[in-house]
Order: sequence, then C-alpha cells, then structure tokens
Amino acid sequence: MTQPARNLKLAPLANEVETALYEVRKKIYSRAVHGWFASWRVALVLATQAVFYGMPWLVWNGRQAVLFDLGARKFYIFGWVFWPQDFIFLTALLVISALSLFLFTAIAGRLWCGYACPQTVYTEIFMWIENMVEGDHLQRMRLDKGSLGARKLTLKSLKHALWIALALWTGFTFVGYFTPIKTLVAEVLSWNAGPWETFWILFYGFATYGNAGWMREQVCKYMCPYARFQAVMFDPDTLVITYDAQRGEPRGSRSRSADYRAAGLGECVDCNICVQVCPTGIDIREGLQYECIGCAACIDGCNQVMDKMGYPQGLIRYSTENAIKRKYPESRILANVFRPRILLYCAVLLGIVLVLMTALYLRSPLKVDVIRDRATLVREVGDGTVENVYRLQIMNTDERPHRYNIAVTGLTGLVVEVPQPVEVAGATTQAVAVAVRVDPANIKPGSHAIVFHVTDKDQPGVKADEKSMFYVR
Ligand code: SF4
Ligand code: SF4
Repeated sequence: MTQPARNLKLAPLANEVETALYEVRKKIYSRAVHGWFASWRVALVLATQAVFYGMPWLVWNGRQAVLFDLGARKFYIFGWVFWPQDFIFLTALLVISALSLFLFTAIAGRLWCGYACPQTVYTEIFMWIENMVEGDHLQRMRLDKGSLGARKLTLKSLKHALWIALALWTGFTFVGYFTPIKTLVAEVLSWNAGPWETFWILFYGFATYGNAGWMREQVCKYMCPYARFQAVMFDPDTLVITYDAQRGEPRGSRSRSADYRAAGLGECVDCNICVQVCPTGIDIREGLQYECIGCAACIDGCNQVMDKMGYPQGLIRYSTENAIKRKYPESRILANVFRPRILLYCAVLLGIVLVLMTALYLRSPLKVDVIRDRATLVREVGDGTVENVYRLQIMNTDERPHRYNIAVTGLTGLVVEVPQPVEVAGATTQAVAVAVRVDPANIKPGSHAIVFHVTDKDQPGVKADEKSMFYVR
C-alpha cells in the first residue's frame, strides 16, 4: 500500500540549479563624472527645474501666469485663457510632443531619457544631495557596509530629511499649477489646505521621494513603457552611445608608456570607469542594451581615461550602427541625420506647429452658444407678434470686460428683445435670455432657420454667428 508523501524530502537532483524568479536589486553606487555631456545634463537639470519651480510664481495680468484651474474649467497660460471648447489645442500640443519625441529618438536615441525626463532629472538632484551628505561612491559604499553608529545615523537622517523636504516642495509646486500658489502657501502654512490639495502634495512628494531616492534605475528598467518601445524608433542611422569594439578590443590593462599595439591590445584599458559612472550599472562594452538611458556619463568617463592615456577621445561616443560597421567619416554620419524618415517627421511636425500657431493667432476671443428655451417653444404676445425665447451663452475669453450687441437675421421683421449692449466680464461666460419676436402675418407655420449675430461693440471685427430655429404656430 502506498504511503502518503507527507514527510517525504526529495534529494536535489544532480545539476539542479535554483533560479529566483525576480532578481534582487543590487544597489548602484555610481561614480560622479565631469565632462562635456555632464555639463549639458547639469545645465538642463537647472533649466528644467528653474521653469518647473519658478513658473507658478510668475504673474501675468494680475493673476498667476500659468494656472490650470480645473474647478472653473479654465487654463490660463500667460495671455491666453483656454476653455473646455479649446480642447483641440491641447490635443495638438500632445501630438506635437509625441512627434518631437519620435523625431529626437530617431535622430539620437534616448535624448529625452538622458537629459530631460523627470526621473533622470530628480535622480540626478537626489544623487547630488547624497554625494554632498555622504560623500563619493566609495565613501557611500563604506558607510552602507559599516554598522549603525551615531555618524551613520546622522548622515542618513540628514540625507532623508533633505530628500523629503525637496520631494514635498516638488509636490507643493505641482499642486501650485492647479491651485493659485499664493493661496496654497497661506493654506498650507495655516494647516488649512483642502483634502485634495493635501493628498496630491503628499502623493506627488512621495512618488518623487520613492522614485528618485529609492527606485532610481528600477523605474527606467522595469516600469517605463518608453524604454520598451523606443527601440522600434531606432534605425541603423540613429545616433546611439556606442563602444567602438574594433578600436577597443582586445581590452586589457597596460602602463601609459607601453606599446599596446605591439602587445596585441586595443585602446580599452579595462579600467571599468564606464561601468562605475553608469547610473543603471550596465557595461556599454557589451553592446546597446535597453537599460541604457543615453545619459552619456560613460562617454565623459572614458574620455577622461583616454586623455590620461594620451589616446584620442571617443572610444565610447555617439555613433550609428552603420557608421561603426562601415567606418563612415563624421561628415557622413551627420549627412545621414537628414534621411527621408527624419525629413518626413520634420515636415509633419512643422506643418502641425504652423497650423497650431495660426489657429492660436486667429482664435476669436468671443464664443457663443444658443440654447432654446424648451419650456415655451412659441407664444403669442399681446401686440399680435409671436415670440421664441433663447438663452445665449456669451463667452468672453479675453481677460478684459467687453460689451456686445446682439442681432438676429433669417426672417423679415425679426425683433430682438434684450437690453443692449450686454457687458461680459473678462474670462467669464454669461447667460443672457433673449426674446425674438416677429409678425406672423406673412410667415408660414413651422420652423425657420435664423442666425444670431453677436458683435463686440468696441471691436466690430470680433463677432460670432450662431444658428438656431424659430417656430411659428
Ligand atoms: S572607460 Fe573606456 S577604457 Fe575604461 S573600461 Fe570603459 S571603455 Fe575601456
Ligand atoms: S551605458 Fe552609458 S549612456 Fe547608457 S546609461 Fe550607462 S552611462 Fe549612461
């Protein structure tokens, strides 16, 4: 009789290898690097953050220059006020952003990831703080390995306090794009911020702290969808950060004065600096990898080594698959940037930008909606005329008040009963009840098309026409 296998222990099979389903994260202690690309990255971090943190404090026409007022359903962007009806402009802006991303990726790979993506930018800032508080990569490594004493506790607490302060300020600034930031300051200081404002400050702050302080390259490697599909935008002429294996291999250490060629070596001294400076911890010498965010830190690191060794710079450089394979000169690489695909992207992008600019320039500061009064379709008035009542929604998208005249055409003898002109305050919508009358003597019963003409009294060029129906019994 077979016994149940309850306490049965299986001996491991020969050659059995235990494989974890998920790789445990190895903390990366990236080494700080200086150079041409690092300077560009610093400049872009400063520029993007000056815009992000500074913009909500700018004032325009006495109000916040950039404010997305979701409650009032109005977006203020400097001199423009956008309403839900202007959604088309937002769509055009999104299309332009997407096309620009495709264009830059097709030209030079992950430029966005390496220099301007918030994940890269905040990770960089958080790493500056870390470097300032805990020291360089070797000191950080030693600190983490050491036991928890007063020094470690102080340094870690200071780092996290600075990270949290920056993260909360970031969350606060983010919410300041949706709630007037000066009001928000007063609310926060008096512990009076609304529940949604509090939630978003904390949520955005927590996301910044978690992503830039703790998760870092994990976000790029495992969470970012762009990292997964950007490869389809590459072609053999896309500039990518490349290790020139033909020049560098076989790699190996040597003294500065050694004749490495006679020793059968290439120009890579196998110093591993390109790996140490990499924020995602990869070795670019193994070829293009999806983890590479295109930050060019390895170019700067390797160029410093090349300078020290007295070799030409550019063992790791921006190049293309075709250029490496076919040994193109630099002029040919640049000429290939203007290939048909890129020219097509540029033409489409330019077309959409021109259409958007023209539409913005021609955008009328007056919009009108006509809604019929459904309670009384038609009624007879004492003087023998018939009357239809409408509600006009007059939208003044300009920030100054305007006065409007209302007229109606479409039937002979139409009379508009409304006090004129109608004044509408800046950036508001006003509902105006308008009665339209006509003598029914010469008009057939039924519905007749009419047109409302709303004209700015002081700027006759600003007008809006809106169709409606007039009913006669
Ligand atoms: S930094 Fe340059 S020389 Fe050093 S290992 Fe990397 S590729 Fe080779
Ligand atoms: S391989 Fe070079 S460019 Fe790519 S992420 Fe690492 S350091 Fe940046």
